[in-house]
Amino acid sequence: MRIAEILKHNQLTTSFEVFPPNDKVGLDTVYNCLDKLALENPDFISVTYGAGGNTKGRTVEIASKIKNQNKIESLAHLTCIGSKKEDIDEILRQLKSNNIENILALRGDYPLDGKLVEGDFKYAKDLVEYIRLKDSSFSIGAAFYPEGHRETNDLLDLFYLKEKVNAGVDFLISQIFLDNEYLYNFRDKLEKLQIDTPLIAGIMPVTNAKQIKKITSLCACTIPKKFLKILEKYEHNEEALREAGLSYAIEQITDLIASDIRGIHIYTMNKTETAKKIIDATGIIRNYHKEV
Ligand code: FAD
Repeated sequence: MRIAEILKHNQLTTSFEVFPPNDKVGLDTVYNCLDKLALENPDFISVTYGAGGNTKGRTVEIASKIKNQNKIESLAHLTCIGSKKEDIDEILRQLKSNNIENILALRGDYPLDGKLVEGDFKYAKDLVEYIRLKDSSFSIGAAFYPEGHRETNDLLDLFYLKEKVNAGVDFLISQIFLDNEYLYNFRDKLEKLQIDTPLIAGIMPVTNAKQIKKITSLCACTIPKKFLKILEKYEHNEEALREAGLSYAIEQITDLIASDIRGIHIYTMNKTETAKKIIDATGIIRNYHKEV
């Protein structure tokens, strides 16, 4: 089913994200993880594209397992910088032939070595337009940044987001954030701009110190005082940090649900244990909000 339809029938969606591994052992681990995540009955599971090495080909393969073997809706991420129209045509063809109906249309990050191959697309908006033109049956999602995207100032970012949404976006998934106020302020701004596209909150339960360093180096995510206290207190005690990080994520999600956010998307990092604990802890309130 298209995610656009799922959002019409559900007041709240719950979903997971996994990433393609670099090797065969990793692939088995992801498949094992998917079998466990499927038992939690999420509305969809997304698979990242290309981030962290040469794993692009695996996105369709993993998204296909989710859809055709686990019988859960899958959302295939797709980036466009450095791609030719023919490359995108081929991916769209593969997605279609594997019954995958949902795409998260992204620009992608510039390579760290600065060596970007010339392509036919500059921004995610160009990809959204192209997919709509090629095959209007896909449900298309895009990324948003509650604290703004690091390359642009807040105002311009909102202006470009509106352009992207108008190109044919059905839903928006957020970058990681640790302070819900950023998301609520962002939602207020979108309302003023008459953008009513459903917002899905991307939540990463931070359960180890390495993760937080990665998050802050990858994106402009503010670490709130409350969270900093947890990090400082428990950075040398793995178990305590894991427990405190999990509690923080559960509290964040509870507040988001009570504030009528349309979806909770958990970045699982290909691990099931934390995701399962969050699902268990929020089950009753998620069910309360699910039906429209
Ligand atoms: P865009 O929407 O194109 O925006 C990029 C920047 O360009 C912004 O600063 C925007 O304000 C600016 N901009 C937009 N239009 C214009 C214009 N006309 N003129 C000038 N400036 C403009 N990366 C991966 O490689 N693989 C993944 O699977 C992946 N999954 C992601 C999932 C989510 C939920 C999120 C939030 C990010 C993901 N990313 C992924 C990272 C993403 O590729 C980067 O954040 C990237 O830098 C921006 O992508 P975008 O689609 O938001 O780009």
